Amino acid sequence: MIYYKSEQDIEAIRLSAQILGKAHGEVAKLIEPGATTKALDKRATEFIFDHKASPSFLNYKVSGRAFPAALCISVNDVVVHGIPSDYVLREGDIISVDCGVYFNGFHSDSAYTYPIGQVKPEVTALLKATKESLCLGIEQVRQGNRIGDIGAAIQQHTEKLGFGVVRELVGHGLGKNLHEEPQVPNHGKKGNGPLIRNGLVIAIEPMINLGRKEVFQAKDGWTIKTKDGKPSAHFEHTVAVVNGYAEILTTFKYIEEVLSIA
Ligand code: MG
Ligand code: MG
Repeated sequence: MIYYKSEQDIEAIRLSAQILGKAHGEVAKLIEPGATTKALDKRATEFIFDHKASPSFLNYKVSGRAFPAALCISVNDVVVHGIPSDYVLREGDIISVDCGVYFNGFHSDSAYTYPIGQVKPEVTALLKATKESLCLGIEQVRQGNRIGDIGAAIQQHTEKLGFGVVRELVGHGLGKNLHEEPQVPNHGKKGNGPLIRNGLVIAIEPMINLGRKEVFQAKDGWTIKTKDGKPSAHFEHTVAVVNGYAEILTTFKYIEEVLSIA
């Protein structure tokens, strides 16, 4: 069932999302060639605990296994759920940083994909299209529309450019739980799926591949990679329906200040 949120619930998620936005900004300051993905995770973990919140992903359990970090860090052909490690970032990589914050009883969730230095033009195009598709998906969030309208917008924008839309992983409702109903696929048909109405809070998170849409899970039981080995991008916002329209609760402001593209 879908848990629609009260105004007080949404205010709590706003506060959670503010901490999350700033945590992303702190991580952004460290992203450069030579940094390990573990170092980014350490900074996010410290920042979140320093703000009397906790990282939603740390020890998050799926089928009895606990995720070991605050961040999912997914480099190049890793689509999502990469585990921070001793991997050293290099010029030409792309890196998705996905983070969740739990504060005052509510979760927020967002992700951003960074180029490391100069990347290939087709990879720049992938990052641009994936981020645009998140915006186009969010534009569909208004009272009276349906969840399928979001996926249809994301799919249309990215497939027309020749990119692959991952089917196995989807966005989601969130609130007291990190993952709630409804599922929010990145593909779909206009007019299909649950009705969007006030109080709905969802994470919209297009996962878009440079090549084919197929993915697989690595032996660690978490990491999701593209089958063709080509790069994948991921952008995510937590969005609430307030007074009939979308309010984006998470923010890329602190990231983009660091990147000087704000
Ligand atoms: Mg996320
Ligand atoms: Mg999510």
